[in-house]
Amino acid sequence: MERLACSTYSPIGPPTKKGSHVLEIHSIAGRNCPVIVCDICGEKLDEASKAAAVFQNFTADGSKVRLLHVHKGSIDGRTCHDEAEALLGKNGEPVGWQELKTYLADLVANAGFPAAEMAEYVERRQQFGF
Ligand SMILES: [Zn+2]
Repeated sequence: MERLACSTYSPIGPPTKKGSHVLEIHSIAGRNCPVIVCDICGEKLDEASKAAAVFQNFTADGSKVRLLHVHKGSIDGRTCHDEAEALLGKNGEPVGWQELKTYLADLVANAGFPAAEMAEYVERRQQFGF
């Protein structure tokens, strides 16, 4: 059984290396379920502790950098993390990464929806069966 929170909106990001999108909606049991897809292998990132955000690091203040969402480390024999670091650092640029849990907590806080507020929202939503 899928353990996805599902909704009705459709966030679509840029295509990944395999032609899928970082953010996709997967239709499951008649519901629209937003998922994050690995930029390297194109498979769903479904365990935040086994995923990472890899990015160009130590750039000038105010700059925007390339970012890849990937399977972390060499867990389960995957090489997505290493491939992402090689891709972003191919010209000798420093590369950094965060575990997806940390990245998502920072992301939602920067979107004005901190994790604590999100937990309350999800609980209220579940009370009404959404
Ligand atoms: Zn992957």
